[in-house]
Amino acid sequence: EHFLPQGPFARLPLPPTAEHPYRSAIVWAEATRRAERFYALDEAAFANAIMQRLGDDVGRAVPVGRRWIYPLSAQYAQRYTAPRLALAGDSAHGLHPIAGQGLNVGFKDIIALSALLETRFASGGDLGGADLLARYQRQVRPHNMAIMAACDGLERLFGNDNPLLRFGRDLGLGVMSRLPGLRRTFVKKAMGL
Ligand SMILES: Cc1cc2nc3c(=O)[nH]c(=O)nc-3n(C[C@H](O)[C@H](O)[C@H](O)COP(=O)(O)OP(=O)(O)OC[C@H]3O[C@@H](n4cnc5c(N)ncnc54)[C@H](O)[C@@H]3O)c2cc1C
Repeated sequence: EHFLPQGPFARLPLPPTAEHPYRSAIVWAEATRRAERFYALDEAAFANAIMQRLGDDVGRAVPVGRRWIYPLSAQYAQRYTAPRLALAGDSAHGLHPIAGQGLNVGFKDIIALSALLETRFASGGDLGGADLLARYQRQVRPHNMAIMAACDGLERLFGNDNPLLRFGRDLGLGVMSRLPGLRRTFVKKAMGL
């Protein structure tokens, strides 16, 4: 993933096919006008634009899949529950893909909800009870909102060319790379552990 001033550019490896042994999905965030321009490029120009961002250590890029374009926006539900209903995953929260946290956060919702359901099932109580649903929301929503704020902050931090911010950002990354304990903690958090 490259954190570019216009937005993150990420290459996500896909399983190989016989025809394309080194396939990847590209996630490319840009300001609307620029995104529309890149989206409309012909295959050769599109491949060049990708190569400029990928660097040349992965060889030549050949676009093979369909291009999709859509606006990115953070979204969150004010309430994760209603009578006998619980929201989990992206139905409850949509995060900026900058830190690749959306699926992790959704798994955490499911882990919390299934633990509550298991305990309730064992005691023979009402699985859709309002108290259980309220506990579920209390357990996951504050954490999810914090992750959402962190992703939003990262996006603003890396999507900014202000020299002071850039200095602070580089300093922070430099410090983290020199402190293995801090780095490990950060990596664990990013892995959702
Ligand atoms: C560009 C991008 C990159 C990302 N990268 C990462 C990453 O690196 N790491 C990470 O952890 N997360 C990442 N995410 C986030 C991750 O993809 C989502 O958080 C995750 O897929 C959400 O899973 P979900 O099951 O909650 O929702 P979805 O995957 O959206 O699944 C919902 C399903 O419900 C179906 N559906 C919708 N409406 C109906 C209906 N009325 N009836 C029946 N079915 C319906 C949809 O077709 C869909 O299949 C990324 C997201 C984006 C957009």
